[in-house]
Amino acid sequence: MSGDIMGNQYANKFIETLPLKKLKELQLAKVKKMVAFAYENSKFYHDKYNKAGVNPYKIDSLDDFAKFPILSKEELQMNYPFGLLSVPFNKVKFSFMSGGTSGDLPIAIQYSEEDWKEVSRAGGKMFPAAGLKPATEDDPGDIIYYAFGKGHVIECFKQGVRDLGYIVVEPSVSTAKPEDHLRIMKEHGVTAYTGSPIGQKSMNLSSLKEFDESDFGEGVLEKQVKAFILAGAPTPLEMAKDFRSMRKTVTSAYGSTEIGGIAYGAHNCDIGPGTWHTFGDVSLVEIVDENNSPLGSGERGRALITSLGPGDTIEQILGERAVPIIRYDMGDEITFIEGKSCECGRTPQYVAMPKRIKNLSRLKTNCGGDT
Ligand SMILES: [Zn+2]
Repeated sequence: MSGDIMGNQYANKFIETLPLKKLKELQLAKVKKMVAFAYENSKFYHDKYNKAGVNPYKIDSLDDFAKFPILSKEELQMNYPFGLLSVPFNKVKFSFMSGGTSGDLPIAIQYSEEDWKEVSRAGGKMFPAAGLKPATEDDPGDIIYYAFGKGHVIECFKQGVRDLGYIVVEPSVSTAKPEDHLRIMKEHGVTAYTGSPIGQKSMNLSSLKEFDESDFGEGVLEKQVKAFILAGAPTPLEMAKDFRSMRKTVTSAYGSTEIGGIAYGAHNCDIGPGTWHTFGDVSLVEIVDENNSPLGSGERGRALITSLGPGDTIEQILGERAVPIIRYDMGDEITFIEGKSCECGRTPQYVAMPKRIKNLSRLKTNCGGDT
């Protein structure tokens, strides 16, 4: 816990602190609308649900929903690139890719303007949650260094933080050396870093850290940067431990190209290692055993994720998505927890210790790591 850097904490207090019972009512209402939308606008879902003999207009509880067939990664691959598109082509804003390398079949997921706004809003929540303050008229607030590459659904972070009023510093694509990144961060007075902890050649936090701590470095990360909001790859435990020993905030996101955000860490939560709050208003998490039977809170099983679409209240539900993702088996094993309250005040619904159990191609999931 880093109590010395508490910020305004919530991007949307109403939805982030919704009582669990209310959240579950909202989730059920969103599921009903999304399933009906998918059935009516996608031949894929229409045929799938008819074949399974389920009634898309009769979902009175999440138990009813649990009888609906699971969406597999293979189905997304077989329908590449536009097979699940459920809105007119001119409503598509992005088509995000995952896979397609090393002999793995690609997946493409289209996002509409509304989908994009929704995932951006979810991504943005992580920054106030990390204790960071947006700019005001006479104060730049916390300045964010945006170190993700291009073409990722994770660009929603950039949109999300901009919409909340933070200043985002984005290096040019030709900025390659660690010393150049660190110099830009120093010159701009950057106080928060968001990017992938490892793996990206030109913007690799591990190499930045190594240089910064070497005889040639100036200790920019240690002296100036107070928060690291990491996604896109697992955060190495050593790295997280190291930054925390310097009293830095390290938070992670769990999500995927297919869905957007699933869960995220807030900086002052104390609910257990590797345990994150769900983005419960934007995605529904279920867990099942090896026979696809539903498991309850506190149990560990395969994660099935449903994208819920925007709307903070039942009246505001849009109930559509360019590519509806319904009961998607991400190939991850998680523990799902409900009810145990957290001192941050957020809705007590959590995902703990995501672990990849299939060799999946998607780029965005941050499995492992910790909050
Ligand atoms: Zn919390």
